[in-house]
Amino acid sequence: MDELHFQNIETIKARQWELLRKQLEYIADKSPYYKRLLKENSLQLEDFQKPEDLKKLPLTTKEDLQLNNSEFISVPEEDIIDFVTTSGTLGSPVNFALNEADLERLAENEYRSFSIAGIKKTDKVQITTTLDRRFMAGMAYFLGLRKLGAGIIRTGSGLPQLQWESIERFKPNYLVAVPSFLLKMIQYARENNIDYKKSSVKAVICIGEPLRDQYFQLNALGSKITGLWNIELFSTYASTEMSTAFTECPYHTGNHILSELIYTEILDEDGNQVKPGEIGELVVSPLGTQTMPLLRFATGDMLTYYEGKCECGRNTPRLGPVVGRKQQKMKLKGTSLYPQHIIEVLNAFGKIKSFVIEARKDGLGNDVVSIKVPDSFKETDELKEYFKSQLHVTPRIENLPVKEIEMLKYPKASRKPQIFRDLR
Ligand SMILES: [Zn+2]
Repeated sequence: MDELHFQNIETIKARQWELLRKQLEYIADKSPYYKRLLKENSLQLEDFQKPEDLKKLPLTTKEDLQLNNSEFISVPEEDIIDFVTTSGTLGSPVNFALNEADLERLAENEYRSFSIAGIKKTDKVQITTTLDRRFMAGMAYFLGLRKLGAGIIRTGSGLPQLQWESIERFKPNYLVAVPSFLLKMIQYARENNIDYKKSSVKAVICIGEPLRDQYFQLNALGSKITGLWNIELFSTYASTEMSTAFTECPYHTGNHILSELIYTEILDEDGNQVKPGEIGELVVSPLGTQTMPLLRFATGDMLTYYEGKCECGRNTPRLGPVVGRKQQKMKLKGTSLYPQHIIEVLNAFGKIKSFVIEARKDGLGNDVVSIKVPDSFKETDELKEYFKSQLHVTPRIENLPVKEIEMLKYPKASRKPQIFRDLR
């Protein structure tokens, strides 16, 4: 299945280049957007002879995808099967689409992703995320598990009662879930005398929120969950534009790159590849996509990567957790911070039921970060001291009624909570 990943890195890279070259040929022939981009940059296929040559091509941003959306479509409209959306940066969602080959590729991607985490045909998996709402990931989970032949329970998002009732009824040993939803499930179980510690669930494939820090240790959210419920948590990372998942193996040392399905670069501000362990922006070229193929798509996600053989035997590089979005970078008294750094501190402090982080600019153009905490929270000085010890800077702390915090956190039509509000 992913035998290639157990071979040496040179073999993996050679195969990856072969696939990337094939994708370039497809795109140069079929994609109106990239045909134009190649022409504008006086580039021809012959200019791409080795992986480094890819740098000749400008990055594709979220804005490019939004402003030239239909120009990315590279198949006849009647061939499109699944119409989905991705969250845009200019306010409205952006169209994305998949044909038969893309859906098959999506199934293969998720099949491999679940396999890396160790899920087998004999397992039963309850999907607690939405399969509809134009959401690609939910469909991907279903298709991947179907390809694997595992048992699938589609409970959908929310509804802790339905989740527990389904666990009791069908005895799944895995869940697919957003980590913070697991806390809601635990809370519901405790309030309703459900013996969740003795449930059939042994592990959770987690999406949407980081679970580990840069040292592969469970972060505050991860430890909180496992402290209450002794289950194994696997972090995954994916997006609609990437059409590919990055998943932890049972050794939990970063999310493995499916190198036959995606080509990755992690770049500094000058567009150069950063060294393993350094933070850069993830830039991806998905391999084998047909309907909306992307080349050098700048994800805006800031993260690091690790090389070398993993304990599982795979030689593919692994990605670290996302620390923030590129444009979310904040400078406080000379210190560069991303939202995840602040979230980790707040979670580790542990006494704040609900919070929202806001970034603004002051009159001089400097970043100001304030944290909205509930009225009932009184340990402001203690929290400030804690920030100082952890990040060497102290944001503003503002008390607000819980209701107002919740309203900021769950704007209408949002698919996930907005813990960070960027008002700059
Ligand atoms: Zn591994």
